[in-house]
Amino acid sequence: MRFEAGRAHVLRTCIELADRGYLAGTGGNVALLVDRERFAVTPSATGYYEMTAADVCVVRLQDGAQVAGEKTASVEAGLHASVFRARPDCAVSVHTHQPIASAYTLLGMRLEIRSEAHRRLLGPQIECVGYAPSGTSRLARRVAQALDPDVHACLMRNHGAVCIGRDSIEAMSRVEALESACAAFFLDRAIPNPTGLEASVAALVTRSLRSALAADPTP
Ligand SMILES: [Zn+2]
Repeated sequence: MRFEAGRAHVLRTCIELADRGYLAGTGGNVALLVDRERFAVTPSATGYYEMTAADVCVVRLQDGAQVAGEKTASVEAGLHASVFRARPDCAVSVHTHQPIASAYTLLGMRLEIRSEAHRRLLGPQIECVGYAPSGTSRLARRVAQALDPDVHACLMRNHGAVCIGRDSIEAMSRVEALESACAAFFLDRAIPNPTGLEASVAALVTRSLRSALAADPTP
């Protein structure tokens, strides 16, 4: 199989993200540069636990042409191509529907990163780009523009997040840090002053947020 190592690596990264609850169903996608001109990317509409390395597609960076893979590449392949072009220092681009950061995108606000450890990983602030439908060049352009050289994640309004890294370990650590930074925001700002939340619901939300903080390995 052509590009076997890269395609298998994408699959392993997806399973790891799905196991941790950052990808649900067929949502989200993962891209990895296999050389300077091509990247491996998850196929569209395929469950992560049914996916094989042969299903993972390889797409040309320059024009989006698919050069390998038995299925059709993710509708977000163009978004990942824009990210790789904007950030040549990165080899992995991960788009998640991670629950707490995705909830944060409903606010449509930039996220200020307060913890020093998270700032080192993510950057000083994470933009929340305006809504555009999945797979559009407008969304791809907005995300690429939001990834300044010292910013390694982007929020997409009413949708989810993109985290990048030199490798999958770095990208994964940013997914975790972003989830934890959003959980900290809600615990500090929203939960102490819930509006109309029943006590049992507020307790459930607080427990979910605290467990996201506890899962964050960032020192
Ligand atoms: Zn999505």
